Amino acid sequence: MDLSAVQALQLTLVVVSLVFAAACFLGWHLFDRPRHALVWGGAFLLAALQYGLSLAREAFPSYELWWIIVNLVSCLLVLGAALGHRVRLGLATSMYHLAALVVAIMGLQIVFTLIVPRTDVRVALGPGVACVAFLHIAWILLRHGPEPRLAQHVAAGVHLLFGLAQGLATGIALQLGVDEATLQQREAYNLVNFALMPTFFVAMGVTVIFLLATDLSNRLGLQAVTDQLTQVSNRRGFLYVAESLMSTARRYTRPLTIVLADIDYFKRINDRFGHAVGDRALVHFAQIVRQCVRNEDAIGRIGGEEFAVLMGDSSAEDAGRMVARVRQMLLQQPLLESGQMIAMTASFGIAEFEREDSKEELLLRADNALYEAKESGRDTVRVAGNRHLVGMVSHG
Ligand code: GH3
Ligand code: MG
Ligand code: MG
Repeated sequence: MDLSAVQALQLTLVVVSLVFAAACFLGWHLFDRPRHALVWGGAFLLAALQYGLSLAREAFPSYELWWIIVNLVSCLLVLGAALGHRVRLGLATSMYHLAALVVAIMGLQIVFTLIVPRTDVRVALGPGVACVAFLHIAWILLRHGPEPRLAQHVAAGVHLLFGLAQGLATGIALQLGVDEATLQQREAYNLVNFALMPTFFVAMGVTVIFLLATDLSNRLGLQAVTDQLTQVSNRRGFLYVAESLMSTARRYTRPLTIVLADIDYFKRINDRFGHAVGDRALVHFAQIVRQCVRNEDAIGRIGGEEFAVLMGDSSAEDAGRMVARVRQMLLQQPLLESGQMIAMTASFGIAEFEREDSKEELLLRADNALYEAKESGRDTVRVAGNRHLVGMVSHG
């Protein structure tokens, strides 16, 4: 059997689509099972089917039947690709609307293939839909999504180019019906379909796999700075954020205050109720702190039962008000465990940032204040003196 150049290309694209589908399914299996990886995997399977059908035209009883089936597959795959991106970006999509869109597009395809045959419209319909879908993908990739967005911007660029190529194919197809296609038009059509499209298709597949990999790497990065139990920053993450908040405060001469909180007699909770209840008490405490701070404040679990909050644009007085809210909530909302109320109190040390402070110095002053709070009987708050004062105390 002799393969024509076009058939060889289509066969290659079947294999490439299957490889991309396998990569998406593998990504789904390995990376916490994101739903969009499944949707993309399905879309690449449809792409393999579409290129396979292009090879198998002779096996169909009529050209029109083959044409409609190929176009149905292509419509589903293009909308599937867009759906995958919308799912990944957390954008709501109505399945009814999507189904209605498929029915409307296929209705048009059937009308212009079987009822009022129009070569230009039926040929233009597929790339026209793909053009809109890919431009839509490029648009949402630019507008939404978690930072950093470099991988998204690359994917948006590729989808934009793919969308424009589809637009070009649509334009050429619409010319087909005006009069007999000229040789030039045919050449342009072949160039777009057999050179541009496969190139962008492969580029699109690579960027989609790249998005999956980047998402995974971002998630691992986030995990490395997050406390798995309480979901606030761990010590490493907190110190990292502290560094950047301190340099902002230094640059713009803005106030910044740190609060250290240590749960009182936490060991007793563990001893009395067990380690698992102790864990839930830590989660409860972190939730209360989270409810009492602003979104822009940084919370970290910097030790076993020790938490820290960094409050930008806040004085020790502001921090004192936040601590008062935490203490009140601890009082009002004790942890409930199998019908038992477990009351918790905490001691707090507050220190205001000063320009010359290093991270370690600021933490040390807050820690000294916390120590004083513990020393004076716990369930209380102490504010650290400024560097100058601390210096005098330690020297005298
Ligand atoms: P103080 O009032 O002086 O702070 O007394 P305390 O009992 O809270 O402090 P201490 O430092 O003696 O004990 C802290 C306990 O916290 C000891 C440790 O077993 C427990 N702890 C540390 N990390 C965890 C954790 O992840 N889960 C649980 N359940 N307990 C933890
Ligand atoms: Mg403690
Ligand atoms: Mg402690």
